[in-house]
Amino acid sequence: MKEAIYSIDVDAGKDLRGFNSFGVQASAPAFTSVHSPREIEAVARAFNPDDLLILGGGSNMLFIGNPQKFVLHNQLIGRGIMSRTGNTAIVAAAGGENWHDLVTWSLRMGLGGLENLSLIPGSVGAAPMQNIGAYGVELSDVLHRVRAMDLKTGKWVHFDAGDCGFGYRTSRFKTVDRGRYFIAEVQLQLTINEHTAFTSYGAIKQELAIRNIIKPTPADISTAVVAIRKRKLPDPKKLGNAGSFFKNPIVPRKTYQHIRERFPDLTSYPVDDQNVKIPAAWLIENTGWKGKRLGQVGISPKHALVLVNHGKGTGQEIWALARQIKASVLERFGVELEPEVNLIGDLPQ
Ligand SMILES: Cc1cc2nc3c(=O)[nH]c(=O)nc-3n(C[C@H](O)[C@H](O)[C@H](O)COP(=O)(O)OP(=O)(O)OC[C@H]3O[C@@H](n4cnc5c(N)ncnc54)[C@H](O)[C@@H]3O)c2cc1C
Repeated sequence: MKEAIYSIDVDAGKDLRGFNSFGVQASAPAFTSVHSPREIEAVARAFNPDDLLILGGGSNMLFIGNPQKFVLHNQLIGRGIMSRTGNTAIVAAAGGENWHDLVTWSLRMGLGGLENLSLIPGSVGAAPMQNIGAYGVELSDVLHRVRAMDLKTGKWVHFDAGDCGFGYRTSRFKTVDRGRYFIAEVQLQLTINEHTAFTSYGAIKQELAIRNIIKPTPADISTAVVAIRKRKLPDPKKLGNAGSFFKNPIVPRKTYQHIRERFPDLTSYPVDDQNVKIPAAWLIENTGWKGKRLGQVGISPKHALVLVNHGKGTGQEIWALARQIKASVLERFGVELEPEVNLIGDLPQ
């Protein structure tokens, strides 16, 4: 700590079970909720970035141990339309807003662009972190600008979309600048009248066909996405989970072809001339893990990529299971899985 902070209330030994969607037990040595830019400035003056852990909805975190850091719970609230030009509206939302609430609000405002990203849990401020994506759309497709506190210099900065280092489930905020910036506001570039419908994903097409919708509005697409997700993914309120535990691995085309010779049903998505992305869920399913349970933790029977906590599981048990899955996939297919979830605490080897 660089200097004392007088303006905010701090909880010592805060129980974090209700603050992570896995529902695992962990406790924070110090915890505070930040509600205003002023409070963030005070924290930035008092702490070094390495001493802080920013917490949004806790839906992409696994506490393997207690975070040995000051936990900052992002509660910055507010959203609005900043400008309308031609077919484009710039919308700004504070980082502590709930992501799905922002999506439904934008649809009520008649704006398009966020519909495919419906029902992704968590906060607006965490969305740039891993460039959230679903059903053929990523945040980077609609992001205009990010406003953040540089916890190293104590200065407010902004990043245009091109400066965020976005890639598949990654950004500069998750890699080279991990922990350095507190994302306080996200600005999005949405459509007003002429919307582009991204419905090429088979599941969306089928869902719209069942509903006899030929020319879907953004709201129709959102309704379809919500219905698919509710069927496909376990609800973290009922069964602890953090969505996809691993990223879909990007492998050389040669590796893909080699696996495909043995398993002709393996699909792939092009990345560049040399590499393709293959579904981690397929790899896990084909090592026999889908639906398995080891004590209090397991793999969802609905989706092989979703590791679950049956109630009393610990972060260490979930991580031990993840390592077993990784080892099985490496042994059978020669492919290394990388966690998408942020691991907090010391990793047992
Ligand atoms: C059922 C389920 C389904 C999911 N489906 C998807 C999906 O389809 N696509 C997808 O991309 N993700 C998905 N996720 C993952 C998760 O919803 C997203 O990653 C979401 O953006 C996490 O938001 P959060 O506020 O919960 O972040 P947290 O878990 O609180 O934090 C995640 C990381 O971001 C950092 N962070 C959080 N807020 C900030 C901030 N304001 N500034 C800087 N750093 C910050 C944290 O320190 C941490 O490292 C799913 C999760 C669940 C449980």
